[in-house]
Amino acid sequence: MMAKGERLSAREQDAKERMDNFDEVSLGYDEKQARAEAERCLQCKKPACVGGCPVGIDIPAFIKLLKEGNPAAAIKKIKEKNSLPAVCGRVCPQENQCEKECILAKKSDPIAIGLLERFAADSERSQDVAAGSKVESKGKKVAVVGSGPASLVSAGDLAKLGYSVTIFEALHKAGGVLVYGIPEFRLPKKIVEAEIDYVKGLGVEIRTNFVIGNTLTVDDLFEQGYEAVFIGTGAGLPHFLGIEGENLNGVYSANEFLTRVNLMKSHLFPEHDTPIKRGHKVVVVGGGNVAMDSARTAKRLGASEVYLVYRRTEEEMPARAEEAHHAKEEGIIFKTLTLPRKLIGESGWLKAIECIETTLGEPDASGRRRPVIKEGSNFTLEADVVIAAVGTGANPLLLKATPKLKLNPKGYIEADEKGTTSMKGVFAGGDIITGSATVILAMGAGKQAAASIDEYLSARA
Ligand SMILES: Cc1cc2nc3c(=O)[nH]c(=O)nc-3n(C[C@H](O)[C@H](O)[C@H](O)COP(=O)(O)OP(=O)(O)OC[C@H]3O[C@@H](n4cnc5c(N)ncnc54)[C@H](O)[C@@H]3O)c2cc1C
Ligand code: SF4
Repeated sequence: MMAKGERLSAREQDAKERMDNFDEVSLGYDEKQARAEAERCLQCKKPACVGGCPVGIDIPAFIKLLKEGNPAAAIKKIKEKNSLPAVCGRVCPQENQCEKECILAKKSDPIAIGLLERFAADSERSQDVAAGSKVESKGKKVAVVGSGPASLVSAGDLAKLGYSVTIFEALHKAGGVLVYGIPEFRLPKKIVEAEIDYVKGLGVEIRTNFVIGNTLTVDDLFEQGYEAVFIGTGAGLPHFLGIEGENLNGVYSANEFLTRVNLMKSHLFPEHDTPIKRGHKVVVVGGGNVAMDSARTAKRLGASEVYLVYRRTEEEMPARAEEAHHAKEEGIIFKTLTLPRKLIGESGWLKAIECIETTLGEPDASGRRRPVIKEGSNFTLEADVVIAAVGTGANPLLLKATPKLKLNPKGYIEADEKGTTSMKGVFAGGDIITGSATVILAMGAGKQAAASIDEYLSARA
């Protein structure tokens, strides 16, 4: 019997079993667990958890409905504010948001808000309840560029307000990072598809294989009768290591590696005809969620040794603690306080990576202690695949074709807190403004921009 106040753990696929498959690792709560966890909520009069949620879900209200055994009403409550609850329940860093603010966190474990959100969303899906429905049209068209979480939420909210919304997506599948970045074992694609179907059910049209800035420009969209444009093109341009040997065969950016596996199903070659090199000894450089996803994917593709090379200590790693924990359980070897120096090849193919040890110096601009090289500590790791997961930049295609759009010094779109850009009628949100951030922040920005677009178009009526 659990001590009162102790949080219930979710069921998980066994670490040994999951190494051979891409099935979901966390299995969430069953009904009994969800009700028991919901029972722990104090139903605070001034719920601090809500303040920690970037989209302002009425958290105590939906938890109360779960406690009463009514997941259908709970999901309705959540969807008043969040169109992608099954996604958020799985990948949002709740530990730094709603759960961090939960009053119970002061003395014991906070309520597992994310797992409860996931349970409510999954219950609805299992009962095939189509929650999306069209509303009366306002007779105005809005274009949304990109189909990641910022765009999906913005499009969904605008459709709920009666606008006729078309999403233009460059890739052949909608969902942005949710489909091409985050792997199946953390976020099953059928779940993303179900949430996209919900947005489509609200009347949103999605046109894939459509690159704005190439097939049509932003100005063309206005000429075609769209009265406002939301840009949610993300930060999909990979940064590279900038060291010797980066052009060798076997060196990937995390972006290319994960896209090949997720979207092009390269691990199922020749059934799907985009091959990927299945490394025997793989080194992933980086310490964020993207690095963890790459390392765990490489392991599932059959690598015998996967190293994670990170220049600071585990404490400074930006990855969610849960992801680092799962990676370790799966046998990923953490080589912290280590920096890559050179990639070594033979006949054009990668053979090894030379690294050097670091120590931590004074804090830098990011507030984290700066890695300082330990001269003479060079060592070599054998590797036939190296994956660089060291950050991304703004997706440049649309920006180059839209010179009227003001950018900040880092190359991201300049916009105010309402998502308003320097171009009349053009709004933006998500990673294309902030740089690589989180799903829920992108959703919050999409929501805010939808409200701004409504205000802008209502004033023009
Ligand atoms: C591997 C990985 C793991 C992550 N893990 C987590 C996690 O666990 N939790 C979390 O909260 N966040 C995570 N993130 C970050 C999160 O996914 C992003 O912050 C979020 O997806 C940003 O949403 P967005 O809508 O701004 O952009 P994106 O999701 O990047 O979507 C942008 C879309 O725009 C399209 N596009 C770009 N240019 C054009 C154009 N010119 N015309 C038409 N379409 C265009 C792109 O193809 C893409 O589909 C992760 C990111 C990655 C890469
Ligand atoms: S702060 Fe915690 S205990 Fe209070 S209502 Fe929110 S989830 Fe429940």
